Amino acid sequence: MTFKDLGLKDSILESISKLGFETPSPIQEQVIPYLLNNESDIVGLAQTGTGKTAAFGLPLIHLAEPTEKYIQSLVLAPTRELCVQIATELKRYSSMLKDIRIVAVYGGEDIRKQLKELDHTPHILVATPGRLIDLKERGKVNLSQIKHLVLDEADEMLNMGFLDDITNILSSTPEDRRTLLFSATMPKEIANIAKRYMKSPIEISVGQRGEAAKNVEHYYVLTKNTHRYEVLKRILDYNPDIYGIVFCRTRQETKDVAEKLMIDGYNADALHGDLSQAQRDAVMNKFRIKHLQILVATDVAARGLDVNDLSHVVHFVLPDDKETYTHRSGRTGRINKSGVSIAIVTPREKMSIKSIEKEIKRTFSQMEIPSGMAVCQRQLMYMVEKMQTVEKNEKLHKFLPDVYEQLKEMDKEEVISRFISLAFNPILEYYQNAPDLNVLVRKEIKENRREAKKLEEEKLSRREMRKGNRKGMIRLKINRGKKDKMDPRRFLGMINEILNDRSIEIGNIDITSKFTFFDFPKVHADKLMKVFNSHPRARGIQLNPVK
Ligand code: AMP
Repeated sequence: MTFKDLGLKDSILESISKLGFETPSPIQEQVIPYLLNNESDIVGLAQTGTGKTAAFGLPLIHLAEPTEKYIQSLVLAPTRELCVQIATELKRYSSMLKDIRIVAVYGGEDIRKQLKELDHTPHILVATPGRLIDLKERGKVNLSQIKHLVLDEADEMLNMGFLDDITNILSSTPEDRRTLLFSATMPKEIANIAKRYMKSPIEISVGQRGEAAKNVEHYYVLTKNTHRYEVLKRILDYNPDIYGIVFCRTRQETKDVAEKLMIDGYNADALHGDLSQAQRDAVMNKFRIKHLQILVATDVAARGLDVNDLSHVVHFVLPDDKETYTHRSGRTGRINKSGVSIAIVTPREKMSIKSIEKEIKRTFSQMEIPSGMAVCQRQLMYMVEKMQTVEKNEKLHKFLPDVYEQLKEMDKEEVISRFISLAFNPILEYYQNAPDLNVLVRKEIKENRREAKKLEEEKLSRREMRKGNRKGMIRLKINRGKKDKMDPRRFLGMINEILNDRSIEIGNIDITSKFTFFDFPKVHADKLMKVFNSHPRARGIQLNPVK
């Protein structure tokens, strides 16, 4: 299928072909013709990176009426970064339709500039919910003629506490508007919004519900908790050209991991909520333009980041909920690009992998932690490949005769091995005696298993004891316990009176609130049963063997 087949205007086709879009992505194939030819609302289950901005953006531009001067389409997004990104994309798609005005308004920026922009009414407004309400209350935006309302990354908007703002905005727009909701996951709050505010929406999803992008490979590495950082370093060293995010669960963990990485010489930095907006912007920009290779981030802080082409996502610790995993791993494996998601887990945490697999309908493969020597080999080959492709610097020419003269006694092999040693000695030294981390975790797993087996055996033997399976004994119970003021002395007194035979030895006695359990010699059990049932002291009390 081509974009032309989808029924878009020629001017739009021209803009997107300039952007290098050749074929529509799956979500575009489904959403675009639906928006152009049908009436009903749409719930789209898709993550960023699937091309969903163009899926709703191209039809909004196609349907915009340049001569009608009111806000025709409103796009709500959770963060200012996403707003800017959407508006930028929409402007690119409409670059051949100059008379369509697209404006973005969002929090965290001087409102006066945005007020000024709104002096000239846009056809398409992209906004964060809070700022939009502010502008609406100042009488600066009129939503009464909105034809299309898009809720983008709806699950993130709810996570950020925008539910009230969204419902406020929804009720300021006309009933007969068309509503499109996009979300990477479908928690029940989203389903509720869809039910309450949308008219029999059709559900379009790229892949299964909550399914992570198809071209992401999911791995986990097993480690001891105390080796997490060491394992992270191995992963990073094994992938020298990595461009990725290391997700942590807390701000402190993020700071610690980033700091250690920086001290250890990695091109890394931290993104978390303790930074000012300006600091966050600076880190995000550095990462965006790839001056930063590794970003260590909390889930919340990474929400504002619109980076599309990560090679790796590393989960320093797995998130508590499966939806967050979907979001994290969805940041890699974008259109036509494969990605890798690696979770660092302890044997105990391995259980969560199973439930994530169920949610995303993909299986994880276990990845061995690369050995020190494997890392060295990989780094060496990376360096050699870089050497092969590096552009020769003309400015060096004039120094070369001196260099040749200096090295004339050495043959090619000697020169290569010395140059490599020069660059490579530090890493080789570091990894020379590095332990095999897989063996260490296997040892721990074995120890855990041994420990668990011991505990299980102890539990079993306690249970056996309670059941009275000791030689010659049977476990019996009566339906009188602590709440009937039963205690061992009263119990023994009662049994002795009923049996009238003090030579019979009674074993362990356990009294719970309703029952008394006791071990009793099997050979005398029938006798006890018989006299018990007819004895006046036992009237109303039931005696039974414990199964
Ligand atoms: P999105 O999911 O909207 O964040 O889009 C992810 C990236 O894919 C953006 O940089 C888009 O410009 C790009 N993109 C969207 N649609 C296509 C397409 N059909 N072909 C190639 N790239 C696309």
